[in-house]
Amino acid sequence: MRRKIIAGNWKMHLLADSAVGLAKSIAEDLKDVNEVDIAVFPPAPYLILMKEVLKGTNVKYGAQNMYFEEKGAFTGEISPGMLKDTGCTLVLIGHSERRKVFNEPDHLLNKKVKAALDFQIQPYFCIGETLEERESGELFNVIETQLKEGLAGINEKQLESVVIAYEPVWAIGTGVVATPDQAQEMHAFIRNWFLKNYSDKSAEDIRILYGGSIKPDNIKGLISLKDIDGGLVGGASLTAESFNQLVRYSR
Ligand code: PEP
Repeated sequence: MRRKIIAGNWKMHLLADSAVGLAKSIAEDLKDVNEVDIAVFPPAPYLILMKEVLKGTNVKYGAQNMYFEEKGAFTGEISPGMLKDTGCTLVLIGHSERRKVFNEPDHLLNKKVKAALDFQIQPYFCIGETLEERESGELFNVIETQLKEGLAGINEKQLESVVIAYEPVWAIGTGVVATPDQAQEMHAFIRNWFLKNYSDKSAEDIRILYGGSIKPDNIKGLISLKDIDGGLVGGASLTAESFNQLVRYSR
């Protein structure tokens, strides 16, 4: 039985006070929840604050990005070791905004996934097609390539620590949510990819989150689907009220 995950991607929002306040409200309001994994991805400067705020709670936290090198002349980048120092245990790799705005290619993302695993930081590996790719019928090829290249060289044992987030680019931040049929179809395709390329067990165990305009009023139709194991949430993760509702609706 796969445990559901609700994860909030705060992107480049909030300042220190509001980030701490939000984390506190989430941890306090959801302290009775133990059936769902809860995670937040605050902006990097506030990760270190989470060490204190989220200590001893059921809320995990992670970074929105990471570089793959251990150290060196990489101005502006953050190493896996630096993330470990903040106490965080998770990292988003390949969010569509990293892919599109910052031109991060699959082979770079593959290095990041490997570095995260080497440092025992759990990667949430994000994949998803654009609207043009969907409309041209290329969507399954695009997803297959992202999986194949992003996870190249990752063995079955390592895969146990990977979470996949399927986020159709056209649904992120747009208010347009994938229909349950569209989401289930792609999640089943992704799970089948793991069946073909790893094993029955890997396919059965891997958690595949949906992301893209999840809100309290649409989560129930998605979370109940066979191959959807939770959500990666942007906008609706920025208030405790909506985020906590999403977690409660996922139980
Ligand atoms: C995201 O940032 O990963 C995301 C899915 O955003 P939103 O929920 O706002 O569409």
